[in-house]
Amino acid sequence: MVKYALQCLSCQSPFEAWFSGSDAFDQQKEKGLITCPECGSSDVKKQIMAPSVSGTKKRGDTVPAASTPDQKMAEMMRAVRDHIASTHEYVGSDFAKTARAMHEGEAEAKPVWGETTLEEAKELIEDGVSAVRLPEAATPAKPVDQKKLN
Ligand SMILES: [Zn+2]
Repeated sequence: MVKYALQCLSCQSPFEAWFSGSDAFDQQKEKGLITCPECGSSDVKKQIMAPSVSGTKKRGDTVPAASTPDQKMAEMMRAVRDHIASTHEYVGSDFAKTARAMHEGEAEAKPVWGETTLEEAKELIEDGVSAVRLPEAATPAKPVDQKKLN
């Protein structure tokens, strides 16, 4: 049996599944038998695994079972998400506009997060505006818009 880390291409949620062998994954995927537990889509792929970045670690060092790279990554993502949620202001779809205004000194610089279109993101990078794309796991829940509630 082999366990694969998979990712749904529809809703991006990661999940794991066991297969009898490496061929089994391909065969089952072809038949649409592998479905996302979140949204049921059969549009799934094997997750790209991040390379090990433990630069100082000597070859042959044992990694404690409780601290696999997956878990470390998940913890890191959670830390990033909590950090953003507590220190960054959510600006929603105004992100590109806000980031550019701050970059050009037209607005007071402050940590913000929000959404952009792919096009806007490309323009920001081309204009030298520093912004990073958040991985799904590091994206905080959107704050409730108070204005819409009133
Ligand atoms: Zn899904």
